Amino acid sequence: MSPFRLEVVTAEEELFAGDVDILIAPGREGQLAILPHHAPLLTQLGPGLLEIRTGGEAEELAVSGGFLEILGNRAVVLADAAERAEDIDIDRAEAAMKRAQERVASHDSDVDLERALAQVARARTRVAVARKRRRPERV
Ligand code: ATP
Repeated sequence: MSPFRLEVVTAEEELFAGDVDILIAPGREGQLAILPHHAPLLTQLGPGLLEIRTGGEAEELAVSGGFLEILGNRAVVLADAAERAEDIDIDRAEAAMKRAQERVASHDSDVDLERALAQVARARTRVAVARKRRRPERV
C-alpha cells in the first residue's frame, strides 16, 4: 500500500515529517492504528506511545496528549509535548513522576489534583517509552 504523509509537531518544534506506512497513536479511548487513505478524522490523544512504521523501520515517541487530524492522505499530530524515545531523560522523568506522585498523595488543598495526575501520566509514559527502546535485544 502506498504511504501517507505524517507530521508530528508541538508548539515549539517539528519532530517528524515524512511518508509513513502505519501510525499507531494513543487515542483517548484506546490505541489508534492509522493506515493510508484513512477517513477524515479529528480526535484527541492521551499520553502514550506514538509509533511510526515505515518500510520495516519503526520510530517511537512519547506524547503527552494533543490532537490527531487526518485529511486527504495526510495526518498531523499536534502534541502538547513530545520526545523521541532516544531523547528522553529517564532520570528527569522519574524525578518528575516522584514529585507528582507526592503532590497527589499530599491531600494539600493547594495542589491542583488534575494537573498532578496529568504530570504522573506524562512522566510514566516517558519512562515506559524510553525503557522499551533501551531494553537489550534478546540474542
Ligand atoms: P518536568 O517537571 O521534568 O519539566 P513535565 O512533565 O512538567 O516534567 P513538560 O511540561 O511536559 O514537563 O515538558 C516541558 C518540556 O520538557 C517539553 O519540551 C518536553 O518535551 C521536555 N521534557 C519533559 N520531560 C522530559 C524528559 N524526561 N526527557 C526529555 N525531555 C523532556
